[in-house]
Amino acid sequence: MKLFDIITDTKILKQISEEVTLPLSKEDEELVLDMVEYLRASQDEELSEKYNIRPGVGLAAIQLGIKKRMLAVCLVEEKKTTSYALVNPVIVSHSVRECFLNTGEACLSVPIDVDGYVYRPYKVTIKAYDAITKKKVTIKARGYLSIILQHEMDHLDGILYYERIDKKEPFRLRQGAEVI
Ligand SMILES: [Zn+2]
Repeated sequence: MKLFDIITDTKILKQISEEVTLPLSKEDEELVLDMVEYLRASQDEELSEKYNIRPGVGLAAIQLGIKKRMLAVCLVEEKKTTSYALVNPVIVSHSVRECFLNTGEACLSVPIDVDGYVYRPYKVTIKAYDAITKKKVTIKARGYLSIILQHEMDHLDGILYYERIDKKEPFRLRQGAEVI
C-alpha cells in the first residue's frame, strides 16, 4: 500500500482539475488504483492505526496535489465493498429530491470538521472511465454513495463541502430532503 500525504492547503484545493487524456497512462492508472487501496486500508482498524491515517471513503487526486480529474471511492459495508477509480467523471442527471448526512460531511483535507448539513441530490447518474474495470461506466448512485461521489466530484472543481453549508442556519431543514 502506498502512503499519501493528504493536502490541507486550500490554495491547492481550490484549483480546478484538468481533464485526463485517455487511454490512461500507466502512471495515472497506478495513481488512481493506489488511491482506492489507500482508502481500503484507511478503513481497516489495524492499518489505520499502524500508519496513523484517518479513515476515508473517497479521495480526489487534487488532495494529493495532483490537478487531474480522477477520484477514488471505497465503501466497505458489511456484505459488500463498492469501489471506483474514476477518470473524467461527469454528472449526466440528478434527482430534484435532495439528501443530507445527519452527521454532516467530513473530508480528509479538512482537519477540523465543519458542522452543518450539506444538501445534495439524492440520486445521480455519472459517466466516467473506471480504472478498476477498465471500462467506460455509467453509475447510478443514491443516498450515501451519491453523496460520496458528489463530494469527490466537487473536489475536481475546487469546491469544499463546508462551502455548501448555510452559514446563517447550518442545521436548517429543507422540506422533502432524505436524511442519510
Ligand atoms: Zn473531501
